[in-house]
Formats: sequence, C-alpha cells, structure tokens
Amino acid sequence: MTQRNTPSPREPDLGQGIEHCSRREFLKLAGLGSGALAAGGAGTGALLHSEPARAIATNARIVIVGAGAAGLGCANRLSDRLEGAEITVVDRREPHYYQPALPLVGTGVWSPSKAKDRNARYMPSDVRWVKSMVAEYDPDNNRVVTDEGETLDYDYLIVATGLELRFDQIEGMSPELIGSHGIACVYDTPEHGERSARAVQAFTREGGKGLFIRPPGDIKCAGAPLKVAMITEYLLRQNGTREQSELHYYPPDSSMFTQPDLDTFLKAYFPEQRGIDIHYHHRVKGVDAEAQRVTFESDEHGEYTESYDLLHIPPPMSAPQPVRESALAWAEGETDAGWLEVDPYSLRHRRYPNVFGAGDVCGVPISKTSASAKSMIPVVVDNLVDAIAEREPSAAYSGYTSCPLITEVGEAMLVEFNYELEMVPSFPFIDPLKPQWAAWVMERWLLHPTYNAMLRGRIS
Ligand SMILES: Cc1cc2nc3c(=O)[nH]c(=O)nc-3n(C[C@H](O)[C@H](O)[C@H](O)COP(=O)(O)OP(=O)(O)OC[C@H]3O[C@@H](n4cnc5c(N)ncnc54)[C@H](O)[C@@H]3O)c2cc1C
Repeated sequence: MTQRNTPSPREPDLGQGIEHCSRREFLKLAGLGSGALAAGGAGTGALLHSEPARAIATNARIVIVGAGAAGLGCANRLSDRLEGAEITVVDRREPHYYQPALPLVGTGVWSPSKAKDRNARYMPSDVRWVKSMVAEYDPDNNRVVTDEGETLDYDYLIVATGLELRFDQIEGMSPELIGSHGIACVYDTPEHGERSARAVQAFTREGGKGLFIRPPGDIKCAGAPLKVAMITEYLLRQNGTREQSELHYYPPDSSMFTQPDLDTFLKAYFPEQRGIDIHYHHRVKGVDAEAQRVTFESDEHGEYTESYDLLHIPPPMSAPQPVRESALAWAEGETDAGWLEVDPYSLRHRRYPNVFGAGDVCGVPISKTSASAKSMIPVVVDNLVDAIAEREPSAAYSGYTSCPLITEVGEAMLVEFNYELEMVPSFPFIDPLKPQWAAWVMERWLLHPTYNAMLRGRIS
C-alpha cells in the first residue's frame, strides 16, 4: 500500500468557531463557563450544604491516600477549612495526568503535553507529602502501612486512590503492546497515549477494519471508548480512507450508555449517522497481537476470533489491589472489583465511620469521572469536618456526573446526569443530545481550567 501523508486533524480555532455561534451566545457561554461550570453548575452535587466554610481549630490527624483529582482537591479544601490539623497525603506519583485530554492525545489530535502536569503545583504547603504507596489498610487500628514500611496512624482517612487498569484480565494483553500490532488504548499514561496515537494514525492513513471495545464492569469515563470510535471515524473521513474501512463497536451488554436518553440516541446515531456497527453482549477473552486477532465471548455466537487492523481495547477496571484486598472493600454483593464500601450520599464508609472515599475508588452506582470527583470533594470535606465536630454528616452527593462526548474534532455533546439518571444540564441552551460546537468549546477551553480549580479545592 502507498503511504499517504496524514493531514493533521484540524481543530477549529476560537475565531473560526465564533462564526458558527453568535458573539452574544459565545460570551454567554464563556461567562457561564467560568462561573457556572467552575462552580459545578447543576453539578455541585451537594444536596444539603449546611454552613459557610470557616476554619475550625483541631489537632486531628488526617491521612489522604492518592494525590489525583479527588485527593488533591480534598487536601486543599481541608487545609483551608482546618487550623492545626496534621494532614498527610500519600502518593509516589509526581506527574499529574489530566486524563480528560487522553482520548484526544491517544488519537493524535492533541500532543501528550496537554495531559501532563505536576502534583507539586497543587500540593498545599502545609501538608506532609509522603512519596510512597499505601500497601496495607488496617482500619481496625486506624493506620495504613506504606510499601516502604512506614506506618501512618490517623484519626480520619480519605481513600482517593482512583482505580486499577486490569490488563491482566485479558489473555495476551499488556500495556507494552499499546502502539504496536494495531493496538490502541487511551486509558493509560500520556506516554502510552502517544503510542496509541501512532496506531490510530497508521490506521486512519490506510483504512481497514477497526474494532472498538467497551470492557465489562464499572470503568472511568464510560464515554471514552465511544469518543475514540467517533474520532477515528472522523479522521478516516478527513484522510479520505473512510470508504475502504469498516468500524465495529462491542459493548459487553445490551446498552451503549447508562443514561437512557443518550443510550437511545447512540443506538441509532452509531449505525445510521456514523456507519459504525454495534455488536452487543461481547466480551474480550484474549488478544493475539502477532496475528492481529482478538477472541470474543459472545452471548449469541459463543467464543470466536476476529481479525483487525486497529483494536481500541480499554481493559476491565477495579479498585487498586490494596483497597480490593482490605476490610474497606464492599463485603457483600458484586465484590470482585473491590470498590470502597461508602454510603452513596455521605461518602462515609458504611462500617468505619472515620473513613471517607472520594473519586473513582468509591463503590457508588454512577459513572466515574472527574466531574463526579468535583462534586464529591466538598461533600467529603464537609462531612469530615462534621465528624471532627461530632455532628452527623450534613452534606450529600447527588450522584452528579458529566461526559463531554466528543463526536468529532470541533463538535461534542455535553451530557450531565445524577443517581436518578435524570439529565441535569448546567447550560439550558445546549441541547445535550445534539452534537455541536458549543459543547466542544466546553471540552476544549473551559474543562481544563475548571479541573485545575478543582485540584486547588476551589469549588463553590
Ligand atoms: C481516557 C479518559 C478520559 C476521561 N475523560 C473524562 C472527561 O471527559 N470528563 C471527566 O469528568 N472525567 C474524565 N475522565 C475520568 C477522570 O480522569 C477520573 O474520573 C478522575 O481522574 C478520578 O479522580 P481520582 O482522584 O479518583 O483518580 P486519579 O485522578 O486517577 O488519581 C488517583 C491517584 O491515586 C494514586 N494511588 C493509587 N494507588 C495508590 C496507593 N496504594 N497509595 C497511594 N496513592 C495511590 C495514584 O498514583 C493517583 O495519583 C477520563 C479518564 C480517562 C482515563
């Protein structure tokens, strides 16, 4: 096959976009963006907010495990709310990954630098940062032990460790394969995102058969596998290789998305508007990278293999091993993934009242996103402050989550919903079920500053 030069995927600049959106509408959007979105809009997620924030004096020892989106936000907010507390953050990772950028990094639209930051920029100066990982939780004795053997005693614990990618649950798969043999995965580090982009770019230059997987179980940003399929389809059109390509999407069950209105929309939109076939009830058993074949288990067809030119393969996800194997994991129901057993509203542990959870690690029935982390942070902090003051928890998380679903470069849908799966739009003039430039503006220009404000605990 002849090599073609890939035109760089065009990302409309602000000026170009303004032509499609009246100046008044844009200013309204920008104003709301820095106000409502930064504030969470409908998405503050707090059902009950009891009192204005004011510093209280305490000598409580608080350990926060994880310095990602949720952990840093909690650390900053607690450091503002408490005077005299001994706050310790445990996390070896020094780079900070802005993960919402990864679908664009992993398809080559953005450079990896857009997903990279440093935790040191957001760590409050008055907390102790222990640069190791928690290896063991001992909630009966109010302590954690790090993988360097240090024991940290606490009065209150916040678990904010995110989740673990379980490549080990797919035979023949490992993160090192990303970027080779047509294998892509945008879920790992920005470095692997760059390699993923190489696989997507090679595929979209030549065309061929592209398979897009959604793994079983709870995953973070359930919209990301959909975004990657749609961005790839867009890039094929841009490169003039769409005609010689076929695209297939494989959900593990009968749904495309949890929120029912979006589910109905996508079930028609994928095959009818984007020419992407949907194969329900498919789970990946294994990958033969050398042969570029994937083995599926399907309810209808049993076990069979399929060839591919591009395979986007996010792995199943679970709580990180130390949480999964601790007394803090759910003890009843679907326990395989070992999510943290918190009350879905107070985010307080159901059996250990001095333990709270924030972010992806929480075993709550809603999508795992940084939008949900943003809503959880003030609830966890308020309720922890209540616990210090020996009061009942006064704040409740509504289950708010959101997904800016990129449909192509320059166009997205902004879907926001809660535990009841009701749409809770922050921007009533943006139709959540219509791919449009205004929602792309949110994703492209407003989401990252909002995310960084969250890391600094600035959520009202
Ligand atoms: C491809 C992709 C696209 C996404 N798109 C969006 C989007 O558009 N919108 C959106 O809102 N969200 C999106 N998300 C989801 C969002 O990034 C996560 O939900 C969010 O980062 C969760 O925050 P967290 O703090 O729970 O976990 P993380 O931010 O992942 O941080 C967890 C931290 O815990 C640390 N840790 C883990 N184990 C231990 C241990 N044993 N000891 C100490 N520290 C530990 C890790 O090193 C890490 O620093 C996306 C995610 C991905 C992967």
